[in-house]
Amino acid sequence: MYLDRAQWATFFPALLLIDVDLAEQCRQNRCPHCGGPLHRSDYPRKPRGGPDGLGDEVCLRLSLCCGREGCRHRKMPPSCRFLGRKVYFAAIVLVVVTMRQRRLGSASAAKLKATFGVSWETDKRWMTYFAEVFSTTSTWKRIRGLVTSTVRDDDLPAGLLEVLDGAGEDKVGGLTRCLELLATGGEEAWEHSK
Ligand SMILES: [Zn+2]
Repeated sequence: MYLDRAQWATFFPALLLIDVDLAEQCRQNRCPHCGGPLHRSDYPRKPRGGPDGLGDEVCLRLSLCCGREGCRHRKMPPSCRFLGRKVYFAAIVLVVVTMRQRRLGSASAAKLKATFGVSWETDKRWMTYFAEVFSTTSTWKRIRGLVTSTVRDDDLPAGLLEVLDGAGEDKVGGLTRCLELLATGGEEAWEHSK
């Protein structure tokens, strides 16, 4: 749903490549505490909602750790795949809420559950979050300055996705751009979501 099966299969590996770039940029900035060298210190996660058969690498949370003795500060680079500690892939949250907002065909709670494993309660929580909290975050305020003012605060994330994907012309590209904006727009958005 939303993307076709072949698109979903290649979507998450492509996001991993973007995350590797984001982590590398972050690594080059060195440790924010002591200026020491940062090293990759990735760890496995089990994100939900993605297609079957994703490789272990696609589920790795990229992470950085200071190499200086006595510091060992851990730095989490921005990620297009994960929302803080949330158990679902970021893309799945955006797609499920957008499908519900637009009442896209086959977006019934039962079908969303069957396809993405998202329960009605979780779906409702995400809807409430986007309706009431997301538009107040510094992340959205930063993103709003980068996109056309026709995107309304009370039409998120669907309105944002439609602007980025050319009204559905390029859903893969639009969803990817949206995730990149969210990843690099700051972490506040996801600190308040459950
Ligand atoms: Zn350090």
